[in-house]
Amino acid sequence: MCGVIAISGTVSSAYEVFFGLMNLQHRGQDGAGILAVDSSKKDRFHMQKGSGLIETVFSERSFQNLHGTAALGHTRYATVGRNDPNMLQPFLDFEAGLALAHNGNIVNYYDLRGELKTEGEGKVSCVSDSELMLRIIINALAGRAKTAANIFDAVGIATKKLVGSYSVACVTESGDIFGFRDPNGIRPLVFGEKKLEDGRTEYGFASETVALEFLGFDKISEVGAGEVVFVSQDGKVERKVVAAVEFNPCMFEWVYFARVESEISNMSVYNARFQLGLLLAQQIKDLGIEADVVIPVPETSRIAGGAVAEALDLPFRELLIKNRYVNRTFILDDQHSRQEAIRRKLFPIAAEIKGKRCLIVDDSIVRGNTAMQIVKLVRQAGAREVILVSTCPPIAHACYYGIDFPSEAELIASGRDEKAMAKELGADRVVFQTIDGLKAALEQKQLCTGCLTGTYPTNVSFGVEFRRQRLKDRHGTTEILC
Ligand code: SF4
Repeated sequence: MCGVIAISGTVSSAYEVFFGLMNLQHRGQDGAGILAVDSSKKDRFHMQKGSGLIETVFSERSFQNLHGTAALGHTRYATVGRNDPNMLQPFLDFEAGLALAHNGNIVNYYDLRGELKTEGEGKVSCVSDSELMLRIIINALAGRAKTAANIFDAVGIATKKLVGSYSVACVTESGDIFGFRDPNGIRPLVFGEKKLEDGRTEYGFASETVALEFLGFDKISEVGAGEVVFVSQDGKVERKVVAAVEFNPCMFEWVYFARVESEISNMSVYNARFQLGLLLAQQIKDLGIEADVVIPVPETSRIAGGAVAEALDLPFRELLIKNRYVNRTFILDDQHSRQEAIRRKLFPIAAEIKGKRCLIVDDSIVRGNTAMQIVKLVRQAGAREVILVSTCPPIAHACYYGIDFPSEAELIASGRDEKAMAKELGADRVVFQTIDGLKAALEQKQLCTGCLTGTYPTNVSFGVEFRRQRLKDRHGTTEILC
């Protein structure tokens, strides 16, 4: 997962990208980059990239160089090459005059890279699907001017080759910006406009509405699945759907990943999480489960926890206190780091837990690390009973589209029913949201539910090689195979 943003139409575009990125930090904490374009100068592109959190990568001094009326930003969540600075985005092809920032995963990356190498295309030097995507678009442009029509055509050609998830923002050397989304719209991308005091209009793309709203954008629309939106440097907006479309957005954006202030596909993340809680409460009622207190796992489960408590008429108590200086556990990239982070991250209020039947609400149970530690903490704090409920249905399959649950063997729901999971986690009982409940809560006719059902919106047969290479990259061996 990553966050992308592009802004044009203001001299403070790089600043705005920086503040937009601060609102997308939750989408990736491994590194960040900003590229600014000053089309009036010969030396047009200025870029700064670095590893770590956005505020550690950029300082006030950064903006002495990042000039121009268009800028592109990226915050990185690495699924491969975590410590490789060559993989930080945006990617720029200086000669071609085009830069790109990508959120998603190209499943057939290794096949496409092989094809480009066979064609003698030596520029794809590092292991990045995003750089490969940039090269494919440049090849499809075949030296033509970067007009809206030619960009629509080039992205259309690229879309026929690329399999996977991609929400992309780009900037040209002239200061045009454009964004596009894969034909299933798996990852979110929005387009916004803001009227400036001098009468001109500023334009922006971002992974989430929260980033543009923070910057004062008021007219915000989705970039549709398979759609390209092109904004020329003089403010002409053109939109075109360039691929056959079947909208299947990732359910996990609402459940866990996106900021609660955001809206995806006309459904607010806050409301989705509240509805997930209400439907879960109905299940708990139907199962005849009784409890004394509802405790959310901070932070993403708060909204659903409140809904569960309200619907069951139980007290809602925040009795697991988070140390805010420890980063999100899911986003850390190895098992040991995650377990350590969980132990240091949460502290139970034992005096309030002792002797109670505790209903713990979590957004999802993926590997089970967090859940297992929480059950242990709550039991040690003296709970009489621990019932664990998940707002997401059991995640039993890999994700090929950018969420880091790569191997079924790592997923607690793989090959286990609820009873077996409760035993494994040390809980008295576990209850999961149903897939129908999920669809109803998110108010979406269609969703990607590949990690729940094993049925994916695209061909994922290339994914085996992707996962093999990813594990090789991570562990230095291909022996730990999925
Ligand atoms: S497989 Fe799961 S996590 Fe991956 S995109 Fe689909 S719904 Fe999201």
